[in-house]
Amino acid sequence: MVSVRSSVVVLGGGPGGYEAALVAARMGAQVTVIDRDGLGGACVLTDCVPSKALVSTAAFMGGLSSGATLGVLGAERASVDLAAVNRRILALAATQSADIHRRLLADGVRLLAGVGTLLAPGRVRATCADGHTEDLDADVVLVATGATPRTMPTAEPDGERILTWKQIYALDALPGKLIVVGSGVTGAELAHAYIGLGASVTLVSSRERVLPGEDADAATVIEDVFRRDGMEVLGRSRMASVERHGSGVRVTLVDGRTVDGSHALLAVGSVPQTGGLGLEEAGIELTASGHIEVDAVSRTSVRGVYAAGDCTGVLPLASVAAMQGRIAMWHALGDAVSPLKLSRVSATIFTMPEIATVGITQKQIDDGLTEASYDMLPLATNARAKMDSFHDGFVKVFSRKGSGTVAGGVVVAPRASELIYPLALAVENHLNVDQVASTFTIYPSMTGSIAEAARRLH
Ligand SMILES: Cc1cc2nc3c(=O)[nH]c(=O)nc-3n(C[C@H](O)[C@H](O)[C@H](O)COP(=O)(O)OP(=O)(O)OC[C@H]3O[C@@H](n4cnc5c(N)ncnc54)[C@H](O)[C@@H]3O)c2cc1C
Repeated sequence: MVSVRSSVVVLGGGPGGYEAALVAARMGAQVTVIDRDGLGGACVLTDCVPSKALVSTAAFMGGLSSGATLGVLGAERASVDLAAVNRRILALAATQSADIHRRLLADGVRLLAGVGTLLAPGRVRATCADGHTEDLDADVVLVATGATPRTMPTAEPDGERILTWKQIYALDALPGKLIVVGSGVTGAELAHAYIGLGASVTLVSSRERVLPGEDADAATVIEDVFRRDGMEVLGRSRMASVERHGSGVRVTLVDGRTVDGSHALLAVGSVPQTGGLGLEEAGIELTASGHIEVDAVSRTSVRGVYAAGDCTGVLPLASVAAMQGRIAMWHALGDAVSPLKLSRVSATIFTMPEIATVGITQKQIDDGLTEASYDMLPLATNARAKMDSFHDGFVKVFSRKGSGTVAGGVVVAPRASELIYPLALAVENHLNVDQVASTFTIYPSMTGSIAEAARRLH
């Protein structure tokens, strides 16, 4: 433990880094953040914030498409000006980054634009964008350098037709036919967003169904919605290469089939940005995938060096990065701290409808890893869903056998990202199903179905 007047140096200004810096500054530490690409990190500038803003426009368009059902004429004829959509997104991201910049400065954090490297466990070099170099001594170092899209030699992005998710906001017109390679969270979200915006989309998925890591019932609903919305979903189709072909692109699958389109979007995972930072030289242990090994209070294998966010590979979410960063500072600077508990993390996939989850999973139950009961309630019978002309989706609640404590849940619904909060509160605070069921909900509301599922678990 070190005194709160310590100096803290943070490498990376994404959610892992900037949230940690705010905590450390508030605790009285002298804090310097070195960031290469802009405050807010990839989260704000290229990943989470832009993609969610794109989804917002797509969801708005999706709402219009059910206009006729609600008695609104002509709404489905609306179309998208992608250049305007992308201008708004980039401006929104820049504003968010500037807000974070101002907030850090207001809290007394020193900011250096440039690249940080570790010279030794308590010594960091900043090679700044303005050409000067600075060596800083630190009682505590936090590495929060994030991750970057995985690319392959047979599928090199060119920024024009073969794109990573960071490059799509330069498009000034909807792709004639977009091939999205990868059906994990990023691939699924962006494929559905472009369908919502009016593009023709083929999703190339190496697995049997989309979103292989997610709740199987939820993934099935979403895959059905994808197909109904006109997406071509190629299951069990592993990409071998992506190349320019004529005026468009050609995706070749490992079984020899080819798929032609105007553009390809590669969403085949991320790699941690941990190379060339001096980590291994300083004795910091990395995993085989290059992620930094950390414990539940964000300590690395070297005293005084902490790590947070996507560079650790613990769970690639902005909310988790931010919490890991805060925990690191609370621990390093001697405040009360609870270790990170992944079983309490709620997460959302921003398809339309959204999939939100918290706590234990159906797979853990099915694999016999945990004992729990569950109830699944389709939302089609919910009065509010009928009023909104919403037919897909469900609420699933997991409860511990015996105690009836809520252990997790899944919500597939519009704004499931908001609806998961009552279940997250229940999981965090060990509420039982009767306590959830006896809490008043609004009539009519989607949350009524959460209470109803809990009631059925009595
Ligand atoms: C398309 C997409 C959508 C997503 N949507 C969501 C979502 O809806 N919700 C959610 O919770 N999560 C989402 N995520 C995940 C989320 O973006 C990441 O978990 C989050 O950005 C991780 O934060 P971080 O601080 O670890 O890294 P980052 O946000 O990547 O920031 C790292 C920073 O470190 C800087 N850096 C790197 N190396 C150095 C160096 N040597 N010196 C100085 N600076 C350096 C980089 O320039 C960058 O600014 C999404 C991810 C993707 C790809």
